[in-house]
Amino acid sequence: MKEILRVDKFLADMGKGTRSEIKKEIKSGMLNINGVKINKPETKVNINIDVIVFKGEKIKYATYEYYMINKPAGVISASRDLKQKTIIDLIADKKRKDLFPVGRLDKDTEGLLLITNDGELSHNLLSPKKHVDKKYYARIEGIVTKEDIDEFAKGVILEDGYVTKPAELKIIKSDQVSQIEITIREGKFHQIKRMFKSVGKEVIYLKRLSMGTLELDENLQLGEYRQLKEIELAELKGLKDIKNQK
Ligand code: URA
Repeated sequence: MKEILRVDKFLADMGKGTRSEIKKEIKSGMLNINGVKINKPETKVNINIDVIVFKGEKIKYATYEYYMINKPAGVISASRDLKQKTIIDLIADKKRKDLFPVGRLDKDTEGLLLITNDGELSHNLLSPKKHVDKKYYARIEGIVTKEDIDEFAKGVILEDGYVTKPAELKIIKSDQVSQIEITIREGKFHQIKRMFKSVGKEVIYLKRLSMGTLELDENLQLGEYRQLKEIELAELKGLKDIKNQK
């Protein structure tokens, strides 16, 4: 990652306006670098060393941002959309413009989504080769049975012939509307809904609880988000030694 950037790019990356707006403001004297007024937008700065004050505000550079959000139903898991509200629109204090959700939840699914601009972490969490666990809570129309647990543990055949990898199904309550937890290690389109369909049942509510080591913060109401804690990020990246210091 580059440490030396033009100061107008630095400010644009941090969401302080468009490059042309920023250039004008710099030329009109709104920038201080290390206590000195600078009016040249092409000035190079070191993101780790130089102290940048723009319009009276001290601005720290963030190469990557990491947020967890409790996704509400009705919002799509995309970076941008011309018509519909996206999950990125909900991150009001984001600095970076290149944020995206790590994987997708259906529009009507709630719960944990990781939002970042770290492509490598995203790849590692989503790659089918990495078998990252994703745990969900669901309410199911119909009585979920021990047979369903066994079927899911073996892998079920979806309507298009795909055989799912073994999934762990736990029954919380078996009734006309059952409550369950399910852990899957892959992420096919509508996977959980289709798995239940293949055993003659319907998912009527779905919420993601965790992804790998990252668990949804219970204090987050629907639509609320927070930055990841250092320990959460280190665990997600597989720096297990830090986990032991918890
Ligand atoms: N499985 C589904 O069916 N939907 C989701 O949003 C996530 C997993």
